[in-house]
Amino acid sequence: MPIIRGKHIADKMCIAIKARTQAFVQQYGKHPTLALIRVGNDPASIIYVRNKVQRAQEIGICSQVFELPADMSSSELGTRIKTLNANSDVHGILVQLPLPASLDTETIIDTISPQKDVDGLTTITQGNLFRGTSCLKPCTAQGIVTLLKTVHSDLSGKHAVILGRSLIVGRSVGLMLLHEDCTITLVHSRSHDIAALCKRADIVVAAVGKPHFVTRSFIKEGATVIDVGISRVLCASGTSKIVGDVDFNDVSSVAGFITPVPGGVGPMTVGCLMQNTIEAAENQMKAHHT
Ligand code: NAP
Repeated sequence: MPIIRGKHIADKMCIAIKARTQAFVQQYGKHPTLALIRVGNDPASIIYVRNKVQRAQEIGICSQVFELPADMSSSELGTRIKTLNANSDVHGILVQLPLPASLDTETIIDTISPQKDVDGLTTITQGNLFRGTSCLKPCTAQGIVTLLKTVHSDLSGKHAVILGRSLIVGRSVGLMLLHEDCTITLVHSRSHDIAALCKRADIVVAAVGKPHFVTRSFIKEGATVIDVGISRVLCASGTSKIVGDVDFNDVSSVAGFITPVPGGVGPMTVGCLMQNTIEAAENQMKAHHT
């Protein structure tokens, strides 16, 4: 059963983005710039921001990291974002989620200018995504669709079952696959007979955050399985490791294609963030010069 190696696909994608970045620098005399805002000290967020900065560096995208205290107010954070919105040298703004519970996430995200919304999560971007209007798409969902297109030249008519309905992953990937003419089923914690629903699918996208939730009994022979989950579990040895929502060894024996964790969707999310940043930068410079 072939493995869809997201890391390799993301590496290739980033080579193309690097060339686009070089052309941008040559044309406009400045670097595409991404502002990354991290509030508090969530350990996973520290790693995610570090990975994004590292990828940006490889590509030639400038990153500005703002590490802010967990006790800051929503209005203080909003003011910071508005300053970045007004700064024409900043082309993309990302607020690393989750924010501390004391902050109003939706209002804060909606403070980001849609032109700089490289994470694709503002109400305006989501509205455009819903309508099928061109926009900067949520990175993980975009990464998943890109991976699927590497193994399916035509997604039209495929039945995709998506486990999870979060804005950031499940709902967004569902909409994007609908725009690709897939038949979609969104499954969530109140759904019944999840294994039976999945068993009918040509494509299963697992984004529930439950280690090894999907086993071979969920999967139709030859189906494509995309594992979005990232969970840290303790091993018998006392160390910990990252696992996905799919029991890879079990499902491998029946799936047609499968993504690993790590090395599957994760690198694509970062790659698509870089793609959105160069696209946002190009769009802003074009708008400025017309
Ligand atoms: P989330 O906001 O917690 O959403 C989880 C979704 O799973 C919810 O819709 C929930 O249903 C559903 N769910 C939970 N338990 C379920 C069950 N037993 N049966 C069916 N559905 C169930 O999580 P998320 O942000 O979407 O992330 C999901 C996973 O993907 C996490 O492991 C996260 O770390 C990972 N992730 C990975 C990347 C990447 O780049 N690889 C990016 C983002 C997220 P309800 O809506 O009914 O509560």
